Amino acid sequence: MTKKNELAEKLLYQPKNGYDRLSDDDRREMERYCADYMSFLDRGKTERLCVDCCVELAEARGFREYVPGMALHAGDRVYCNNRGKSILLAVIGTESLSAGANIGAAHTDSPRLDLKPRALYEDAELAFFKTHHYGGIRKYQWVTVPLALHGVVVRGDGSVVAVHIGEEPGEPQFIINDLLPHLGREQSKKPLGEAIPSESLNVLVGSVPFVDEEVKNRFKLGVLQLLHEKYGVTEEDFISAELEVVPAGRSAEVGFDRSFISGYGQDDRVCAYAELAGIFDAKQPKKTAVCIFADKEEIGSEGVSGMKSAAFERFMGDLCASQGVSLAECFAHSFCLSADVTAAYDPNFADVYDKKNAAFVNYGVGLCKYTGAGGKSGASDASAELVGKVRALCNDNGVFWQMAELGKTDAGGGGTVAKFMAERNIDTLDAGVPVLSMHAPRETVAKLDCYMTYKLMRTIFEQA
Ligand code: MN
Ligand code: MN
Repeated sequence: MTKKNELAEKLLYQPKNGYDRLSDDDRREMERYCADYMSFLDRGKTERLCVDCCVELAEARGFREYVPGMALHAGDRVYCNNRGKSILLAVIGTESLSAGANIGAAHTDSPRLDLKPRALYEDAELAFFKTHHYGGIRKYQWVTVPLALHGVVVRGDGSVVAVHIGEEPGEPQFIINDLLPHLGREQSKKPLGEAIPSESLNVLVGSVPFVDEEVKNRFKLGVLQLLHEKYGVTEEDFISAELEVVPAGRSAEVGFDRSFISGYGQDDRVCAYAELAGIFDAKQPKKTAVCIFADKEEIGSEGVSGMKSAAFERFMGDLCASQGVSLAECFAHSFCLSADVTAAYDPNFADVYDKKNAAFVNYGVGLCKYTGAGGKSGASDASAELVGKVRALCNDNGVFWQMAELGKTDAGGGGTVAKFMAERNIDTLDAGVPVLSMHAPRETVAKLDCYMTYKLMRTIFEQA
């Protein structure tokens, strides 16, 4: 009998819940780490705010802004702010960049509602902002949720005004109306994806008219008057603006045991923060450690601040040039962990998951050999050798991990920045925190999985 059990233990893969193997030290560290992460999440409600927050945290830890041509030595810490919307950080290693870099790539943009260029209008003596959603949202989730507004308005004279309203106590918030159930009989028969059309995601912003009853559009004007007083902006200024409507409020611990974190934008700030803390804490990396927090992942990694942008080549090329190394040589020997969230198995929606290959809450960081949809379409499909390398790193360093597939093959799919790194001839593997209610106004993660993702990032920067 004993022999049989020994054989089972030796041959069968038996994943175990993280709480059954977490040490007291790790548990304390996990709580400390997650408190820091939650404050990052609360400050970084947009990609721009994430960059601001990263710069502040990095400078406090000895990072300096990279200036092209500056001399770099082992141990130097630099960052490069790409247009205020994406950021790269590096710790120069003791080995030459010809041996490659260890790269962590995550994204800090999250699904949201952007204001349309001509957003403000009035109807039935109510003032609204029209929105255009950014990324994959389920529209029905965004009605009757408290909302905040963040972003910048560039005025006619070129001056930039920052707008942040709806987060602090005492500040007004915003809301999108929903239909009352009493009149929802026909709407309730529609598929979820059709019940709330995009053009009805209009944000309620005011109802006090401009005093002069003779003036046209006096409800719209009432709002513009307030905006002009507070920000000095006119209606035309909104055309050169980036204003993002996001769920208002802070993250929260969830559950009697406080084992979860609920909050907006955890895809992918939960992995970005794991990378950030990992590069901060990594002790004397041999290979140069690089973090990139890309923008625009949720709309295909496009644009100058997205992962396809040559801004990455420029920064890495500069680092290589400072050592007389070719960028192609560096990329060919580099390793990238594309740190992005994956779907956590949810028993409430069991039929969309392959339970044998799903990521489970509290089982640690999810390693994802391939993302994509259907027959691995759009996946970079990491090699067995690469998965083997990361698996061994995890096992040798007390990082709890699991394999993760995003749902049943026929259920849908999703992508990450991984393929854009692999296209650059960089060996890339996806890994990240399993998330419940991904892309919802509030997403839920387990503290244990957040902490293990941080441990993996740190291990990669120190040892990969
Ligand atoms: Mn993501
Ligand atoms: Mn996403």
